Amino acid sequence: MSANQEKKTLVLKGIGVSPGIVIGKAYLFDPLDVQLSFYKLDDAALIPQEIQRFKNALKESERQLLEIQANLKKAKFNEPLYVIDVHILILRDKKFISRTMNYIRRLGINAEWAVRMMLDRYKKIFAGVEDTYISSRISDVQYVTQRILRNLSGKKGQTTWGFDDNVIVVAHDISPADTAQMKMEKVRGFATDIGGRTSHTAIVARSMEIPAVAGLDNITSLVQTADIIIIDGTSGLVIVNPYPDMLKRYEEKKIHYAAAKNEYLSHAKLPATTLDNYHVQIGGNIEFVEEIPTAIAHGAEYIGLYRTEFIYINSESLPTEEDHFNNYRQVVEAKELLWSTIRTFDLGGDKFPSNSRTAKEMNPQMGMRAIRFCLREIDLFKTQLRAIWRASAIGKVKILFPMISGIEEIREAKQLLQEAKDELVAEGVSVASAMEIGAMIEVPSAVVIADKLAGEVDFFSIGTNDLIQYALAIDRANEHLAYLYEPLHPAVLRLLKNVVDVAHKANIRVAMCGEMAGDPTCCLILLGMELDELSMSHLAIPRIKRIIRASSLQDAKVLLQNAMSFNVASEVRAYVQDYMTQHFPNEFQKEED
Ligand code: PEP
Ligand code: MG
Repeated sequence: MSANQEKKTLVLKGIGVSPGIVIGKAYLFDPLDVQLSFYKLDDAALIPQEIQRFKNALKESERQLLEIQANLKKAKFNEPLYVIDVHILILRDKKFISRTMNYIRRLGINAEWAVRMMLDRYKKIFAGVEDTYISSRISDVQYVTQRILRNLSGKKGQTTWGFDDNVIVVAHDISPADTAQMKMEKVRGFATDIGGRTSHTAIVARSMEIPAVAGLDNITSLVQTADIIIIDGTSGLVIVNPYPDMLKRYEEKKIHYAAAKNEYLSHAKLPATTLDNYHVQIGGNIEFVEEIPTAIAHGAEYIGLYRTEFIYINSESLPTEEDHFNNYRQVVEAKELLWSTIRTFDLGGDKFPSNSRTAKEMNPQMGMRAIRFCLREIDLFKTQLRAIWRASAIGKVKILFPMISGIEEIREAKQLLQEAKDELVAEGVSVASAMEIGAMIEVPSAVVIADKLAGEVDFFSIGTNDLIQYALAIDRANEHLAYLYEPLHPAVLRLLKNVVDVAHKANIRVAMCGEMAGDPTCCLILLGMELDELSMSHLAIPRIKRIIRASSLQDAKVLLQNAMSFNVASEVRAYVQDYMTQHFPNEFQKEED
């Protein structure tokens, strides 16, 4: 267990202002870490001296900005330059200068106080402007006054940037001048309390092509320097102290992002139909409703896995039925989606080890998690089931139960689902007349009894992340064992093929929603098995669709058959990888770029 895991995981929602995903250590930046003093001048004779001090600070501020501008020009960061021009104009603004001097003169106050009063005056004026672009420009005045104050304090604007590692800068706001003083080659992302798409943070981040999320309200009070954070500038999310599983998932997303960025998106909405007309339905996995627009843009036809446990992340108290419902309705209301598969929560394991309802366990991955936890905490489970039923009245929902290991669990879950429906109907609440029920196939015992389970549900969804960990006895979050975690292991291939064959024999659909579904190397192997649906991190979708569209089911079946004739995992991998790079040189070239 990493040290990071002991810290509370937080998910913060802001505005994604520069796309991309980055994972790194936080560096908390406070440009005004200057102790200011505000006081009345003892004697009127001190006023000229105070005015001179103010003028000197103005001069020094302008000198610094010109120097920063010259440095930015040298470094060819041209975009932020005009912002610095604006700041210089404010510094030279006659009204700004004369009013500040008037405050000093009239009120007999020190220069710091007068500058602060000017800022407050501007804040009031800008707050009254309806146009949000213009009102947001108060930040320019703020930067300028901060710089003047820093110079008045004698700090000469010399901010020391204490970081040597690659960092994600967390700040109230970031000005181009601030960035000019940072070791930008070490900065991998930004997260700020304030700002939107036109804020300086956004402009700077986009010009430097680093992911950024702004408008997070109070991230500076929630994050400490050296906390691990993930910035998802595409969905506008910041995850603080992610647990290992989540970290791993974002590492994968990062790789996919690089490949999904460019020309892939133009193919994203095309169907995943092979040259010989076999159609695979492609869905998106989401953890937050904010990801839905990006999932759709990347070609998700439906949501194949909504990991609802994240509703619990930020709240100290348990979410109510209303909290769940308000969340699910945002998912099912997305018109472009054919349906949404809501997975009941998979708490426990390495997800939220600090959860008060789960005792510390020696072996959390095999402990009181997912459906086991739900069947013990029935009230908590029912709250969620009721909310899912209510969402089913608004849009098409399928429900998916995680970690099913035997028939009794699925029967008990179905029974509670029916009870929840009956209660709602008795209360006169609208629900769908029926809802498809699915079992996640992620425990080896479920594979062995898949023929029996198929009689209990409408569909299967294979969770390879857990299935591989349990089948090969490899902790999925243990980086030292990562070399053994092999989706193409002959045992895994046999398990998967068995599930698909059994499901089809029983006439139910079979999906995959583990990471393997979005792994381009494995794509044709899964096609060869004739999976009906593949649901994945949405960033992986465009490429998977391209591979499927350029292939035939017939060829994929031959590839699968050949791959399954090897006994050694590394031989399977070498064979499949070789086949894929030979047949899709462009796709695999991209991954290495
Ligand atoms: C899986 O186990 O493959 C899966 C999709 O579920 P999770 O990653 O949330 O455990
Ligand atoms: Mg799982």
